Amino acid sequence: MANNIQAIRGMHDVLPDQTPLWQYAEKILRDVLGSYGYSEIRLPIVEKTELFKRSIGEVTDIVEKEMYTFDDRNGDSLTLRPEGTAGCLRACLEHGLLHNQVHRLWYYGPMYRHERPQKGRYRQFIQLGVETYGMSGPDIDAELILLMDRLWKKLGVRDKVRLQLNSLGTIAERLVYRETLVKYFQAHLSELDEDSLRRLETNPLRILDTKNPAMLQLVSNAPELMAYLGEESLAHFKTLTATLDDLGVSYEITTRLVRGLDYYSKTVFEWVTDELGSQGTVCAGGRYDGLIEQLGGKPNFAVGFAMGIERLLALIEVSGNLPQTRAVDVFMIRVGDAAEQEGMRFAELIRNEVPGLKLQVNCGGGSFKSQFKKADKIGAEYAIILGDDEVSRGEFSIKSLRSEQAQKTLTQEQTITFLQEFLGPFN
Ligand code: ATP
Ligand code: MG
Repeated sequence: MANNIQAIRGMHDVLPDQTPLWQYAEKILRDVLGSYGYSEIRLPIVEKTELFKRSIGEVTDIVEKEMYTFDDRNGDSLTLRPEGTAGCLRACLEHGLLHNQVHRLWYYGPMYRHERPQKGRYRQFIQLGVETYGMSGPDIDAELILLMDRLWKKLGVRDKVRLQLNSLGTIAERLVYRETLVKYFQAHLSELDEDSLRRLETNPLRILDTKNPAMLQLVSNAPELMAYLGEESLAHFKTLTATLDDLGVSYEITTRLVRGLDYYSKTVFEWVTDELGSQGTVCAGGRYDGLIEQLGGKPNFAVGFAMGIERLLALIEVSGNLPQTRAVDVFMIRVGDAAEQEGMRFAELIRNEVPGLKLQVNCGGGSFKSQFKKADKIGAEYAIILGDDEVSRGEFSIKSLRSEQAQKTLTQEQTITFLQEFLGPFN
């Protein structure tokens, strides 16, 4: 017998019993983004490899070892997007959206990284990305944080996440800091792991981003970037923190927060949790003004963030604040030829008259008993029962499957009114 083909390691199916949680979170995301006036942008999943090399940087984990890169049939090198910032900016530059305009955008969809799969770390994962262009901040930096703060609250996980905040200053400020940092690490060469030794040559700030527990002590004693910031960067950071103080959003200033990517400047932040083991960063972002020029645009401003949806859903599960959803509200039981015909007709009428009701009609026959079993298994609230008796009297029986309410016999009109009332005006 041939082996069944299985999904690719680290790429997961979302089965029907899990989709309600996804849809619930997705609806809240859209609603919150809409309430701040953000627009959706839809982008290709595949881009030219060059785009990611140029934007993310050659000496990053992503470009060095995580990208799904292949030659297409013309011999062009293409890559499955590992993140969305580069493609979003590419699209906005290509369509001239950045001339004297501001934008507040979001996108949602799969990203691909060839990492070692484990809980909270996959090879295909879903991100919500939010990007804003044309605003120098710090008010827009604050807005992005407020938006996330609102989202956590709506999803009932605010008490599970903490905001970590830092400023990376300007490129010039970082260069001065970089020299001091290199000297510090050179004085502790024997304590550096292999990755860090390599980074010492290529991008020493990355060493601060290490996930190696053996290096955390060394890293926490390193000189702090904040001390090297100039007046303007400091003022930007101060106004941002003052706004957050004013609006009651708590944060931790985390001086070794540098983010994995090269293109950030000034504000950087992460929302982290202690509930998900070592995959504790749920949402990460910051200001990346320099990337626009790096991709060939005129000098401009950009700030955004990305959130991992699998980690968000894991957090919702841990919090226990799960949505109460039902795939089917009402299941229609039909027994006998006349009932089958009448049931199909009536079901269509119900769908006209009670929009929003989730009505499933039994198909494939079966006894009353077996159809009741199906209705129960699918989690329906009510069964509409239609047998030859009901058809001959022009009536419908309704039975609650979740309570002791007595079974009712209703006319067609009464049934529709009953279902409209059951659904309520706000569904
Ligand atoms: P990490 O430090 O966990 O590797 P990162 O710095 O590589 O994260 P970003 O590139 O900033 O992550 O992506 C933003 C968010 O996307 C992360 O905070 C996380 O929630 C999610 N994410 C990143 N990589 C993965 C992955 N392989 N699987 C699942 N979610 C991911
Ligand atoms: Mg990573």
